[in-house]
Amino acid sequence: MLDFTLTEEQQATRDLFREFAEREVRPLAAELDREPRFPAELFRRAGELGFFGMRYPAPDGSGADLLSYLLAVEEIARGSLAVAAACTMQSLMGTFFVQRHAQGEVRERLLAPALRGEVVGAICMTEPDAGSDLFSMTTRAEQRDGAWRLTGRKTWVTSAPVADMFTVFARTGERELSVFLLERGSPGLLVGRDIDKMGVRASLTSEVSFDDAPAACMLGARGAGMESLREILCEIRLMTAALALGVARAAFEDALAYSRQRRQFGKPICEFQAVQAHLAEMRTGLEAARALVLWSAWNSMQGAENSEGSMMAKLFASEKAVEICDRACRVLASYGYAAEYPVERYLRDARFTLIGGGTSEILRGNLARGWCDERCNPTDQGADRQARPRWPRRRRQAGLPRPDGCGHGGDLHRPAPVTGVNRPRGRAGGRGRGGAVGAVGRAPEPGPQGVRAAEG
Ligand SMILES: Cc1cc2nc3c(=O)[nH]c(=O)nc-3n(C[C@H](O)[C@H](O)[C@H](O)COP(=O)(O)OP(=O)(O)OC[C@H]3O[C@@H](n4cnc5c(N)ncnc54)[C@H](O)[C@@H]3O)c2cc1C
Repeated sequence: MLDFTLTEEQQATRDLFREFAEREVRPLAAELDREPRFPAELFRRAGELGFFGMRYPAPDGSGADLLSYLLAVEEIARGSLAVAAACTMQSLMGTFFVQRHAQGEVRERLLAPALRGEVVGAICMTEPDAGSDLFSMTTRAEQRDGAWRLTGRKTWVTSAPVADMFTVFARTGERELSVFLLERGSPGLLVGRDIDKMGVRASLTSEVSFDDAPAACMLGARGAGMESLREILCEIRLMTAALALGVARAAFEDALAYSRQRRQFGKPICEFQAVQAHLAEMRTGLEAARALVLWSAWNSMQGAENSEGSMMAKLFASEKAVEICDRACRVLASYGYAAEYPVERYLRDARFTLIGGGTSEILRGNLARGWCDERCNPTDQGADRQARPRWPRRRRQAGLPRPDGCGHGGDLHRPAPVTGVNRPRGRAGGRGRGGAVGAVGRAPEPGPQGVRAAEG
């Protein structure tokens, strides 16, 4: 049964990060975007607040449940999507493989400081010619004199300009992708030019190349790269969806506040039906997206295989976020086009959520193909489906790649067995502590600036 009430712990987490975003993130957001610069001070602060260790069990982290994490992500993203993008990279992909697989001295030296925000982690998967089709990557690792050495070129690496450690996917055989840890300063590792971006500008991104660069260690078993990645894929999608909720909420709040103040033809513009229609569509879209994200999170927390749900949540929330930010720009008209108002930044930033965690096109294709292949009832999605096989595995069983490629675009986005971090610990706990699940069903209270986050 769905329970729409947040636990005290979930409410406390949401309130903590709401205050952080309101007091510390929001005031710096425009400046960080303009310069652009990595938000070092906010990053450290997020570490102090325990954000980076939320999804790791003790003793490394606090083992917060998935919903608490998503609430925190939405709050930070409401303050700045760029800051949230940098922080979520650290709390998920930038540290996941290290937390999961690093041992001994390397783990001792890097993990705790990374979870405090003192060491920055980056993940290197995408290559200039391998984006959605990750399996076509050409970066390779060879074992020589007892060490793995990497050669190749990665791009779009979030936080690379400031990163201390790099989790790198590389080919170790014809059909084998493995994961390695490399540290800044490693001979042959070069951080290239910054990529000048449309949005999330304070989340710095650059190329990273490897020329016979020695790895500190392999993270996980040889050839287990994709399986490891699949373990957090649902969470990556839900996290991206929560980013979308945050920026969409900021856009709605700003548009509502503006429409109350701005007067034309002798009255506030919020009294014009055309503007009201924008506001109604924005808020309805936002709440629908939130409901889908939280329903999907709830499924994950119940232990259901949630690949399909997380794809739908990510797809819908990111598309809605872009639409909502666009509507906000229309409500503000010329001021929505001006850099001195934040709504144009929201729109630029929101477009990132269409790409990260799998593009909308990829997700639509995967969803529809799954239903067509399976001939299942696509509306029957929920915890009760976990016992049934639902996706065809003919090609995988035959060891064949999908005809349209793999990686972000193919098999990577297909449902995986519930293992590792996606397996709940306890009845309703996702990766960490349990607790009643609080999806949000009742209407958020309109605060002084409009809609608020999931209310308990
Ligand atoms: C701000 C930002 C930060 C990023 N950070 C990281 C990072 O830290 N680490 C990292 O490794 N990567 C990162 N990425 C890269 C990101 O994961 C890729 O951009 C993404 O996987 C898409 O790849 P691509 O851009 O090469 O697009 P392509 O795969 O070339 O796609 C181009 C177009 O073709 C469509 N398309 C491709 N294949 C199919 C198909 N099979 N069916 C239907 N449509 C298809 C796509 O939807 C898209 O519209 C980042 C990207 C951005 C924008």
